[in-house]
Amino acid sequence: MSVPLYDAHNHLHDEWLAPHWGKISSQLPALNLRRAIVNGTAESDWPAVLTLARTHPSWITPSLGLHPWHIGNRSPNWLATLTAHLDATPHAVIGEIGLDRWMTDRARPDDPRLNGLRRAPLSEQLDIFLAQLALAASRNLPTTLHCIDAWGSLHDALRQAPALPPPRFLPPPYGGPAELIRPFASLGAYFSFNGYFLDDRRARQLDTFRHIPPDRLLIETDAPAMPLPRHWRTHKLPPSPEGTPVNHPGNIEATYTALAAFLGEPLPSLATRIEKNFLRLFTP
Ligand SMILES: [Zn+2]
Repeated sequence: MSVPLYDAHNHLHDEWLAPHWGKISSQLPALNLRRAIVNGTAESDWPAVLTLARTHPSWITPSLGLHPWHIGNRSPNWLATLTAHLDATPHAVIGEIGLDRWMTDRARPDDPRLNGLRRAPLSEQLDIFLAQLALAASRNLPTTLHCIDAWGSLHDALRQAPALPPPRFLPPPYGGPAELIRPFASLGAYFSFNGYFLDDRRARQLDTFRHIPPDRLLIETDAPAMPLPRHWRTHKLPPSPEGTPVNHPGNIEATYTALAAFLGEPLPSLATRIEKNFLRLFTP
């Protein structure tokens, strides 16, 4: 099988993948992976995204943004730094940016993923999110969003923001309510499928993908996060130092295969559709 593959969202520069990068980069060429959007999330990781993109210019598109988890620890110069990186890298896009109420309302005080991070309240997140949306709109850049437990606020913010020219943004692996698909789509949204939803406990999110408009569907790994259920994994990596499962980006092929099976659509036809959608969204 050699359909062209497009990973709409991942974090290939992540420190969890770094020790295995030699192995990963030798395995990926066998996969017909045509392009991947690699997302930075904090001022501290933007240089690593840019370096990786320079090393693999044929298939990596760098994406830079201040993720809600990192808003609380931003420097006073964050926007100037982001703007300077975008000036120097005209093919870069924006993300991962957005809103996260899980972090402020539901996450345990000792959650290791939020270790050392000041949890910015939603009002502060909104200010920073809107500043980045304005930057994306002024430069006509596709934008990748993050949202947990704040879908209504996200929809309101997008409606009020300076219009992102359509077709222009990608909510995260879409785990929001099915009722919001249509309103988001009318604002120009694409929706990406992640193999994580193949887990039996995520049947509701999986079912949502029956309702995505055909021309708005994308596929992603979010590697090294969001691993597929064990029996779907074709590519494996050892867990992180804290024991968290690590998703190998080579699982993009299995993610395509699984979604085609779920939708009852032949893989080549799904892959052609995803390719068209990806190029429409991510071609500047
Ligand atoms: Zn992500």
